[in-house]
Amino acid sequence: MSESVALREAAVAALRRLDALGLNRGSSGNLSVRDGAGMWITPTGMGADDTAPDDLVWLGLDGGVRGRCKPSSEWHFHRAIYAVRADVGAVVHTHSVHASALACLERSLPAFHYMVAIAGGDSVPCVPYRLFGTPALSRLVAEALRERDACLLAHHGLVAVGRTLAGAMKVALEIESLSEAYLKALAVAEPPLLSAAQMAEVIERFHHYGQPAAAGAAALSAAHAPARSRAATPPARARTPRRASGRAVRRGRARRPRPRSSAAAR
Ligand SMILES: [Zn+2]
Repeated sequence: MSESVALREAAVAALRRLDALGLNRGSSGNLSVRDGAGMWITPTGMGADDTAPDDLVWLGLDGGVRGRCKPSSEWHFHRAIYAVRADVGAVVHTHSVHASALACLERSLPAFHYMVAIAGGDSVPCVPYRLFGTPALSRLVAEALRERDACLLAHHGLVAVGRTLAGAMKVALEIESLSEAYLKALAVAEPPLLSAAQMAEVIERFHHYGQPAAAGAAALSAAHAPARSRAATPPARARTPRRASGRAVRRGRARRPRPRSSAAAR
């Protein structure tokens, strides 16, 4: 079996898992996996059970298209993410209920729980609303994901990335779970947040638990320590926690780090 066929089969299996877990329903949500100079992305308007590996569409980062179906309407932000994150091998997008509910409140996921660090910092930002399938939305998503492995899309849903498809799935599932916990906490009171120092300690511990690069985030340990192997991450991008709330992103105050690879200069 060629690597491309294996990637497409894994993508369809992941799509069906998202459906089975209730993170996506019907034809909502989509995912992609990097393959060479492009990606395989799920087709638009098709349910998980109706999607076959051959229905995936190949999109080159340079704009090339190959496939018998039309790609997901959100292909813009998938491509933009791969362009700015050379270390990302998969992108998962869901309309999962709890992450979407938080996004509909235009709220970021703050450091109310230590596992927020699974996304690479002390928050999961919520980017402002833009019409789905537009370059305007893709720019905001790519900007937010320069510094995180997940972000919320206001009035829309969640995007998670990983070095592998399993890693991106792990992040998506965790952020959905954390969003549910946060909403339940908010129903009682605004939860106090962990300090920057406490989150730095968590991130440091996560690095300690990290697995070799090939394992990726799929090697999340039983101790709930995400394997945030960052072999492809330049040292300058070491995960020093910052207070980068969604509000900061919305106001355009988020730090703009240099592109991490030549791929960013498309
Ligand atoms: Zn969507």
